[in-house]
Amino acid sequence: MASDLVTWSPSVTLVPSHGCFNACDYCSFRIPLDQAAPLGVPEAEARLMARPGAAEVLLLSGEVAPDSPTRGSWFARLLQLSRLALAHGRLPHTNAGPLSRHEMAALARLNPSMGLMLEGVGPAYDALHRRAPSKTLAMRLGQLEQAGRLGVPFTTGLLLGVGETMADRARALELLAAVQRRWGHIQEVILQPWRPDGEAARPLSSLEQRDLLDVIAMARELLPAEVHLQTPPNLWPLAQLPVVLEAGINDLGGIDCVDVINPAYPQPTPEALRQLLAPLGWRLEPRTCVHRHWWPLLPAALRRHVEQRARLLASNAA
Ligand code: SF4
Repeated sequence: MASDLVTWSPSVTLVPSHGCFNACDYCSFRIPLDQAAPLGVPEAEARLMARPGAAEVLLLSGEVAPDSPTRGSWFARLLQLSRLALAHGRLPHTNAGPLSRHEMAALARLNPSMGLMLEGVGPAYDALHRRAPSKTLAMRLGQLEQAGRLGVPFTTGLLLGVGETMADRARALELLAAVQRRWGHIQEVILQPWRPDGEAARPLSSLEQRDLLDVIAMARELLPAEVHLQTPPNLWPLAQLPVVLEAGINDLGGIDCVDVINPAYPQPTPEALRQLLAPLGWRLEPRTCVHRHWWPLLPAALRRHVEQRARLLASNAA
């Protein structure tokens, strides 16, 4: 991994449904399932057309319980939107909660990579997730194992700053490192600062920044070297990003015009990032949703889609 290289993924986010059967304490994305309308294909297509440079289509959905009568139609929508993305020459990356083995295998034929946050380990998370049945540690770790068995390039991560201790963080990172040593499919670990929602952004204080920099350094130490460390650049004060990269972050994740999870925190433009980072010697490079190291895991047809889009990204960046 070149030390001066920082990658990011030009992306567009589609939300198949905001409806979710969980009720995590910190969530402002969710609406109750019976009030949720699924994303229609014409609307999805319009979003794709509005972002022609977006190679990645992040399908970020609220979750439907495994035994719900609406699970089948919800899952069919994920497949439909994945096919739509590929038909437009884009690469879907689904993050829609725990999936059965059959569901994950079906999506993996259309998605070059998929994701699910581990979020964290310890009492702080247990309290936040007491009304979120799919957020048990066993369930989330089981999903990472299942993705490993299926050979799906995978993104996971931790939600930080919700009251967890350094020991909790170390334990979570050690669990991820163990999964990676067993299966080798974890391409990225997102280190995501929790930020309150609201009308206005509340920037990270210097104390919070120092604390997060310690976690980044610990993650770099505990995780195998091939795993990219990612953080969303809009959740940090822009001027601090060089320090964040020095601490060990080497990927800025998918960047769309807005962050659907934290809409009060505006995304920096790639140009603003380049202007900040290039004079300091960092090379900012667009990538597809699946890092090159994991391309050998892809089915041949999907790999062709990825190679095609990667060539386009490289020619646009040249
Ligand atoms: S699972 Fe995701 S969408 Fe559902 S309540 Fe929790 S954070 Fe919100």
